Amino acid sequence: MGHHNLDELRDKVDGLNTKILDLINERTEIVQEIGKVKEKQGVNRYDPIREREMLNFLKEYNKGPLPNGVMEHIFKGIFMSALEIQEDEQRNTLLVSRKKKAEDTIVTINGEEVGNGVPSFIFGPCAVESYEQVSTVAQALKAKGQRLLRGGAYKPRTSPYDFQGLGLEGLKILKRVADETGLAVVSEIVTPSHLEEALDYIDVIQIGARNMHNFELLKEAGSVNKPVLLKRGLSATLDEFINAAEYIISQGNDQIILCERGIRTYERATRNTLDISAVPILKQETHLPVFVDVTHSTGRRDLLLPTAKAAIAVGADGVMAEVHPDPAVALSDSAQQMDLAQFDEFYNSILDYLKIHA
Ligand code: PEP
Ligand code: MN
Repeated sequence: MGHHNLDELRDKVDGLNTKILDLINERTEIVQEIGKVKEKQGVNRYDPIREREMLNFLKEYNKGPLPNGVMEHIFKGIFMSALEIQEDEQRNTLLVSRKKKAEDTIVTINGEEVGNGVPSFIFGPCAVESYEQVSTVAQALKAKGQRLLRGGAYKPRTSPYDFQGLGLEGLKILKRVADETGLAVVSEIVTPSHLEEALDYIDVIQIGARNMHNFELLKEAGSVNKPVLLKRGLSATLDEFINAAEYIISQGNDQIILCERGIRTYERATRNTLDISAVPILKQETHLPVFVDVTHSTGRRDLLLPTAKAAIAVGADGVMAEVHPDPAVALSDSAQQMDLAQFDEFYNSILDYLKIHA
């Protein structure tokens, strides 16, 4: 019974630490195996009853001097860490994940390659109001060599008494203008029942912020052969946004553009708060092209240009903005659409910005 000196005791602690660590790692590997078996069986990975049973058993087994409360705390941490590792792994196996596919996905619309490193643009009115209105904007876009025209035929409005869009008639107007100008059309579809019919008229299916959680619509859009512009929900986390895109890609359609359009916060200076860091995060986490809709993000004409520059600076693949021949009389979003002169100025400034930073 020799007495130990401090160094000897510390060596023992170091040895125990590595033993504990080895054991936790061994445990983690086994838990990962259990996770794989559960995944094959289609059962939930987290099992709170099993966790309770393990803790009860350990409490009875505990010989001290560690009090049960402390022991429980430590083991809960061990349980949690295994679960977190599994969740990370699951996220990496998503079809939209950059871990699953390293190369950027390029979405090709009407010869325009979205996501090829050169920023793209989608311009057009908030809503389709008439042939003349859409045609006027389309001619202005065409004159600038632009290829992507937007316009809502089905408008999800806050009030049911506000203009709801021209519906199928609006899609027909878009198609007519597309045929006349060679522009491709981006338009929102709000319900799976409109989708098949709409395919004859549009080139890109837009899924709006209010429908990002409409899983049936996401699945339908995933099973057709048309690019999808998916907007982030008004209060959706990026994780939810990414999972919404996963709903689409899981049905076979990988032609997806993600679009940050501002989220709801307490700030009232802008209509929504543009979550600019969403862009580099989405670019890191997924292989999909990312757009920023500066119109709905800000709801302010004076902020369209600076936010568009910011979007490009942080790596966005493109920018969406609303243009209307006469915003003052627009049937929706009249405060934030650009008229043709403002569009001219916006466009030239963006081109200058791109040249300087090329
Ligand atoms: C739109 O782009 O027409 C629109 C309604 O935007 P959001 O769905 O982002 O509100
Ligand atoms: Mn709008």
